[in-house]
Amino acid sequence: MKSVSILGATGSIGQSTLDLICRQPDVFRVEALTAQSNVEALAQAARATQARRAVIGDPQHYAALKDALAGTGTEVAAGRAAVIEAAASGADWTMASIVGCAGLEPVMAAIGQGGVVALANKEALVSSGDLLMSAVKDTGATLLPVDSEHNAVFQCFEPHNLRQVRRIILTASGGPFRTLAAHDLAMVTPAQAVKHPNWSMGAKISVDSATLMNKGLELIEAYHLFPVSADQLDVIVHPQSVIHSMVEYEDGSVLAQLGSPDMRTPIAYCLAWPERMAAPVERLDLTQIARLEFEAPDFGRFPCLRLAKEALAMGGARPAILNAANEIAVAAFLDQHIGFADIPAVVESVLDQYDAPTPASISDVLAIDAEARRLAGLKLESIAAC
Ligand code: NAD
Ligand code: MG
Repeated sequence: MKSVSILGATGSIGQSTLDLICRQPDVFRVEALTAQSNVEALAQAARATQARRAVIGDPQHYAALKDALAGTGTEVAAGRAAVIEAAASGADWTMASIVGCAGLEPVMAAIGQGGVVALANKEALVSSGDLLMSAVKDTGATLLPVDSEHNAVFQCFEPHNLRQVRRIILTASGGPFRTLAAHDLAMVTPAQAVKHPNWSMGAKISVDSATLMNKGLELIEAYHLFPVSADQLDVIVHPQSVIHSMVEYEDGSVLAQLGSPDMRTPIAYCLAWPERMAAPVERLDLTQIARLEFEAPDFGRFPCLRLAKEALAMGGARPAILNAANEIAVAAFLDQHIGFADIPAVVESVLDQYDAPTPASISDVLAIDAEARRLAGLKLESIAAC
């Protein structure tokens, strides 16, 4: 049996992972499940899987979780330190699906134990880049990409033909506002932004998909996951989300991975790797889809993609600053404190005001993250005052 832990078990990726695990109770045993505040969903998941441990990040929910799991045999804990500890609870396989840089320390703890880490939490890798990848090397951990694009590249990438790899092409759906004029973008609401045309996802990544920051974060993620240079990474808009990404070789071959837009496919690939397992996803019917379309991304209407590309090119602390400012801006947009077009404005203003030496440790990354958040908060105040 494979023991698994899920960090961020109540989220969109966490629930898709649970769905796959619950279908094969004789194959997977659950070590630890964590969530930030959703006691009900966490308790339900712990009961369904007979998890050994359930951890709630926000300590004020400890009593409620303890009550909900009374008599089950599941150990209950609360608080940030307990989440990080659960990440290192010795599971063979860990799903890292906390959203945001809040997932960085738990991911590092999971990597520290040297098992398989399935990485959905892109913000952790964007913020800490080389530091996270060298920890993977040092501990002998195996990092598997869950993000559908990177999972597709992973499936198409031939490491033995590395020198023959010409380009990695990440596909982007273009999000819900792909065809909207620039002046209309300023008026869109959080409800419209989280309504992704193809994928069902958590609120933060849905907004990132609408601003195309998600694709920018994914460029940075790809740069760290695959041994290519930044100028070998391209983005193409493909509204149907059928081709999840491609690798182009020197002989002109372009390998692509296709599938229905359902995260259970890349999650299943990571769960079973290096084998494959069944996933209950809608089968791809290409005659039904009939047309696959492609277009170049519009950096003018979606400045977040440009900002992320610049941060990738400059490296150092820039991706961590970009990510932190974006997290603050997206949360403020979701809370209706700023407009959609203010998101890139907040991120750009923080990048303009602040730089830091290349982080040499995870605590450096966390300090850079905190400072960028503070500056983004000040920018929000100045927007509110206008
Ligand atoms: P979500 O908002 O649905 O779930 C987030 C999870 O993280 C929840 O379980 C929540 O309890 C937990 N969490 C939130 N804040 C926390 C904190 N401070 N400490 C500990 N736990 C905390 O998000 P999601 O859509 O499942 O995305 C999770 C991650 O996976 C993100 O980094 C996202 O970019 C990435 N991802 C998601 C998808 C998708 O289809 N949803 C696809 C690719 C990558
Ligand atoms: Mg993706």
